[in-house]
Amino acid sequence: MGPGPSNPYPQVIEAFNRPVLGHLDPEFISLLDETNERLREVWQTSNALTFPISATGSAGMETSFVNFVTPGDDVVIGVNGVFGDRMCEVATRAGATITRVEADWGCTIDPQRLLDAHPNPSMIAVVHAETSTGVRNDIAELGANKGDALLLVDCVTSLAGIPVLIDEWNVDIAYSGTQKCLGVPPGLSPLTVSHRAMERLVQTPQSWYLDLNMIKDYVTGDGARAYHHTAPISMLYALHAGLGVVLSEGLEQTWSRHQSCGHELHSRLPQLGFELWAQDGYRLPELTTVSIPDGLDDVEGRRLLLERYGIEIGGGLGPVAGKVWRIGCMGHTARMRNVTLLLGALEELTSELL
Ligand SMILES: *Cc1c(COP(=O)(O)O)cnc(C)c1O
Repeated sequence: MGPGPSNPYPQVIEAFNRPVLGHLDPEFISLLDETNERLREVWQTSNALTFPISATGSAGMETSFVNFVTPGDDVVIGVNGVFGDRMCEVATRAGATITRVEADWGCTIDPQRLLDAHPNPSMIAVVHAETSTGVRNDIAELGANKGDALLLVDCVTSLAGIPVLIDEWNVDIAYSGTQKCLGVPPGLSPLTVSHRAMERLVQTPQSWYLDLNMIKDYVTGDGARAYHHTAPISMLYALHAGLGVVLSEGLEQTWSRHQSCGHELHSRLPQLGFELWAQDGYRLPELTTVSIPDGLDDVEGRRLLLERYGIEIGGGLGPVAGKVWRIGCMGHTARMRNVTLLLGALEELTSELL
């Protein structure tokens, strides 16, 4: 089922095959406008600057730091997995002075600890859904109490999987990725930026390619739609189609489809000897982490799942490599039939090997 689905929505694959228009063709521009409008709906925001960065989720992360942090700025970052740690590396390269707020891997970060970590930070940054551990970090309380700080949230594995409410939660900057719950291949990073954050846009960011000052007119249609870089046309068709699938199913219905699959996995896996690993109450339905039972080999178990049943799951990362499995159930893959197939496969494997 993969830490990211290798199985996009069928409508997305169809969209990929459409003839490639030019990046200034009026027909393409109207598809881009519609994609951004669909993104606003999925992000639950009215932010004017809402569009996909032409690169993967990590580029969304980089865009968010280089455009809103100048050397010496105090940035508070929550770290309870790989991606919080990556945020620290990116922010450090942008010159930020970082206050790391750590929680054990597998546990959530108490929002109050992030709020108390520094008296007047210019930014508070946190990962909403930690894909490396299967844990959710709560956002609403940060938005309500952030003071002057900008609130930056990584929504790569949460957007379209669990509720993400940008305006209601008072989030200033958020980025996502196409290949997680949106059910589109990897290649773009949907980004949304509040008006409040735009007032603090860095004038000459260290990155040329990701400089929002230069990209924003092309993507919003304010002023000239001049060439900056060639838009990845086919990827944009794919995202447009993926968002269309999500919105025609209904955002709430998409969330509840992920929720039902996650709930079924969380209730059945322990019966097969796979203990749930992430903190109770903060488990992601779209990414389930379990301890590997004693006697079952990490690499061999995953190889058999892939070769015999065509199911790909992720291994543990960092401190829990070899100890946990990460079961992604996202986007088009989040179907009860896939859950049933995985549970049946695990039942066969464990009765054979243990
Ligand atoms: C996958 C992921 C990223 C990085 O996205 P890429 O598309 O691999 O660059 C960042 N943050 C989180 C939480 C992720 O799951």
